[in-house]
Amino acid sequence: MKVLHLLYVVIVLFTSCQSNKDGNTLKESTKNMNSHTKFTEKTDAEWKKELSPEQYHILRENGTEAPHTGKYNLHFENGNYYCAGCNQKLFNSEAKFRSNCGWPSFDEAIAGSIAYKEDNSHGMHRTEIRCTKCNGHIGHVFNDGPTETGKRYCVNSISIQFNTQK
Ligand SMILES: [Zn+2]
Repeated sequence: MKVLHLLYVVIVLFTSCQSNKDGNTLKESTKNMNSHTKFTEKTDAEWKKELSPEQYHILRENGTEAPHTGKYNLHFENGNYYCAGCNQKLFNSEAKFRSNCGWPSFDEAIAGSIAYKEDNSHGMHRTEIRCTKCNGHIGHVFNDGPTETGKRYCVNSISIQFNTQK
């Protein structure tokens, strides 16, 4: 009986949190219930509703925008670049440099904002970079950067949003 009662409490808690429109409550509840899950949890249908088709393809399906087409490729204003999926701050404009590779390039990321994942797709061995908050695909990082960090974060413009806010 005790176990059943506990189960009932858990179900009630879960149901009430699910129906709560407060995003933080839902997030906290989700975090507590699935401690192994750290990403913003959204279904593919929810992402499709929130993102443009191009954003969805790149952020959720590991797409890559064509080189030299992105709006931030040659963009050098002062400010920050945020994840287009969840608005987490990913890069500061001070880290941006002119790489001539066709994609926005940075020599370092905001601490804790990027997750690194081995990527052996397309016959290449690369390190994929993902947003730590929503698990969105941002691009790749290479060890051929020309600055002292030696890194070149090669980023899709479509994965990020620029804002002059600090
Ligand atoms: Zn994100």
